[in-house]
Amino acid sequence: MGKLNDEYAHGEICPKCNGKRVAMIVYGLPTDETVEELNAIKDRKELNFVLGGCVIRREQFLCHDCNISW
Ligand SMILES: [Zn+2]
Repeated sequence: MGKLNDEYAHGEICPKCNGKRVAMIVYGLPTDETVEELNAIKDRKELNFVLGGCVIRREQFLCHDCNISW
């Protein structure tokens, strides 16, 4: 596992287009913990988040440029 794989796994860059307009997908109702996490994310301007609804899927991140999720 190289540095790039870590960056993909943490949603820092898109594995398809290498873009940085990546959003974290948040499932279900946000808990206090989630809200804290979201506030931390908002401080990093390049990462955003989207609400994924109540059905929890495996995908954690979404790319705004090519619309894939992983
Ligand atoms: Zn992309």
